[in-house]
Amino acid sequence: MPEPTRRAELVALARATRGFMPDDEGMALLEAAGRAGRAFPGAVLVEIGAWCGKSTVYLGAAAEETGAVLFSVDHHRGSEENQAGWEHHDADLVDPADGRIDTLPHWRRTVARARLEHRVVGVVGDSPAVAAAWRTPLAFCFIDGGHGEEPAWADYRGWAPKVAVGGWLAIHDVFPDPADGGRPPYELWCDAVASGRWVQDGETGSLRVLRRLSPEG
Ligand code: SAH
Ligand code: MG
Repeated sequence: MPEPTRRAELVALARATRGFMPDDEGMALLEAAGRAGRAFPGAVLVEIGAWCGKSTVYLGAAAEETGAVLFSVDHHRGSEENQAGWEHHDADLVDPADGRIDTLPHWRRTVARARLEHRVVGVVGDSPAVAAAWRTPLAFCFIDGGHGEEPAWADYRGWAPKVAVGGWLAIHDVFPDPADGGRPPYELWCDAVASGRWVQDGETGSLRVLRRLSPEG
């Protein structure tokens, strides 16, 4: 059972952290990762796309409650949609030294404030490069990196195969109606469902959760 005050502390911190995760979706993410943490002793959880650590705290809470470890992968340079001139840009996340986005200091502060440094490992780098070298089977994988065609499929192709049978895959920003948002995350989800290798295990807002029934290929 989660310790109620500690969970409340972490949820409050996650809610107060800047980022792109509505409260109800964050709670659904926490619950799904918790199921994975309980199903796999010493579970390895991975998130792709951390930004300032909002989803990291929800997932970190699940890791702490279940004795799992979360690897949080991000190059911290922002996605295409976060760059200057785009919709999700924040000028104060720009490093004045080189004019580029750098969310790593913000992410670190969030994880430190949450006192989750023993449960959360930051992996700073390009997601496909990390995926290519990654060998450990995953109990849980959360895909919320670049949402363009190419980055989204690269994350899906790189990471979804690493989810163990009985493990979970969560995809964010799945919008069946194109009026609500971009297509790629929805297309990944459709591909997973059509493959027959996954069973749907939850839907909250734009968060879709799947559980693996059978191995790749
Ligand atoms: N989950 C976050 C939001 C993530 S935004 C929240 O809860 O607020 C998407 C993130 O994906 C950005 O931080 C961006 O830097 C990261 N990203 C985009 N493409 C990437 C890539 N190829 N490798 C690593 N990280 C990437
Ligand atoms: Mg998202």
